[in-house]
Amino acid sequence: TKRSRGYPPTSHAPGGGYAPVVTAQPTTVVVMTNQNFRDVPVNTVCQFCNQQIITCIRFQDGLLTYLACVGICLIGCDLGCCLIPFCLDSCKDVVHTCPNCNHKLGKFSRTRPGTGNQN
Ligand SMILES: [Zn+2]
Repeated sequence: TKRSRGYPPTSHAPGGGYAPVVTAQPTTVVVMTNQNFRDVPVNTVCQFCNQQIITCIRFQDGLLTYLACVGICLIGCDLGCCLIPFCLDSCKDVVHTCPNCNHKLGKFSRTRPGTGNQN
């Protein structure tokens, strides 16, 4: 019998110091805390940087802005009047961002039923 030599035995047992790492899976819990974001800054904990922050708000042209624009146009206002809604923050969606990490935390949409209109 002829045994081909040259193959090192594959007994590559890990030596000391190497322990099998049993990582607890970092479950990225995106807890969308159903916070009632309104059109004012809210005191909350940022889910991205875990800091106690007060959200920065930014007004954004939302559906209601355009609806108001169209509505005013239909009523028959002259040119210019239909631009009024774009100047009214009360018609706009409100985007809440974290002042610390600038992540978007939530949005308050005035056209979405059931959000923020309780109480
Ligand atoms: Zn943050």
